[in-house]
Amino acid sequence: MIAHVSTRGGAGRRGFEEVLLAGLAEDGGLFLPEDWPRFPREALAALSGLSYPETATRLLRPFVEDCFDEAELAELCARAYAGFAHAATAPLVQIAPDDWLLELFHGPTLAFKDFALQLLGLMFERVLARRGRSITIVGATSGDTGSAAIHAVAGRANMRIVVLHPHERVSAVQRRQMTTVDADNVFNIAVRGTFDDCQALVKAMFADTAFRREQDLAAVNSINWARILAQAVYYVHAALRLGGLERPPVFAVPTGNFGDVYAGYVARRIGLPVRRLIVATNRNDILARFFETGIYRLGEVVPTVTPSMDIQVASNFERLLFDLEDGDGARVRRALENFTKTGELAVEPGRMARLGELFRAGRATEEETRAAIRRVFEESGQVIDPHTAVGVEVGRRLRRPGEGPLVCLATAHPAKFPETVTEATGRRPTLPPHLADLVTREERFVVLDADLAAVQEFVRRTGRA
Ligand SMILES: *Cc1c(COP(=O)(O)O)cnc(C)c1O
Repeated sequence: MIAHVSTRGGAGRRGFEEVLLAGLAEDGGLFLPEDWPRFPREALAALSGLSYPETATRLLRPFVEDCFDEAELAELCARAYAGFAHAATAPLVQIAPDDWLLELFHGPTLAFKDFALQLLGLMFERVLARRGRSITIVGATSGDTGSAAIHAVAGRANMRIVVLHPHERVSAVQRRQMTTVDADNVFNIAVRGTFDDCQALVKAMFADTAFRREQDLAAVNSINWARILAQAVYYVHAALRLGGLERPPVFAVPTGNFGDVYAGYVARRIGLPVRRLIVATNRNDILARFFETGIYRLGEVVPTVTPSMDIQVASNFERLLFDLEDGDGARVRRALENFTKTGELAVEPGRMARLGELFRAGRATEEETRAAIRRVFEESGQVIDPHTAVGVEVGRRLRRPGEGPLVCLATAHPAKFPETVTEATGRRPTLPPHLADLVTREERFVVLDADLAAVQEFVRRTGRA
């Protein structure tokens, strides 16, 4: 069995099941495996030609074996990806002689978060049934995460989900992806206020210990180790299809919370040859600055055309830091406590050097992002979303000739961000056929004031129903 430890060193050794359910470790750290399984070259080569769910089963197996046996895991992986609207699950599309898009938006909510959350929903359901427990998942969203979580939980036994979004402050597509889900375990609250108000309400509900116990509150945010692990699969699957054991790819990854890039790092740690991971940010560039200077310094969040990357504190950065500090949880804890106080954290050059040439990082302005959408469309006829465009722009800038195929992660479907895409290409992107009627589907949500008592009353009342 692989034991998991906290990045802050204070949570002992935990099995996969506990890590899955807990999300965050009780010392405030993030879980990571204590020892990493390694797939030798022959083992990876043996995965080529397998379907996406089969590849996932083989790769995840050593990580989860204390929780799911092989047949069970295979069943969960098959079901998780059965609803994806493309036969290849994560197709590769060529846009230039040595440039590829890895399309990760064929899941139910049209963004890459479905890859992890669809599987997590099934894993939760299985474990809760075994334990005879039920939970209420509560979360705040400014867009993508809420809908991916709702679609992961809808209709599943022993769990329900309550998502708070800021009333009239999310896009119509994003809202409808949450509010048109027809399942009696899904509840949407539109809060009269901002995203920060929503987050504060969720925090306050978790901080109310009596309420948290009474409702069995749980979260599915991006710090859950199982989410990262599930995402490592598409790096391996894509590399194998490009012959990547011979010519290791350069991956360009549009980044917010550092979860998706870190999944690429996981793929490399378990043995996948990766030439480079290009960390692509928008103007909210704390991560780009970190890789350039070794200093992680808080900036102010500015809104951009890539809202899912408008983040200044990248929660999964702590996982990389743990490695840079040689797995010394006490050092990580001190560094982060200091960061909370001063807004700054520096990693010694000697330690940064250990990252070698693996990471390269850069940022794209909004103008560059629009120009990249236009250029890719003119060159290849492919329409890409603004987040993907940040990856393409920075990836092309930083990849050097002869370095291997460039694989840009296409993290969202262009129709999720129609305004920017239309502006750049002159054409309005259309939703895929299975979502074409999204605008006419019936919506279900309540509008509440940003008032803790009112929100708690709603959660209690719907829980009894
Ligand atoms: C969440 C998201 C990202 C950022 O992913 P991280 O794992 O937070 O780095 C990028 N693009 C889209 C479309 C997203 O939804």
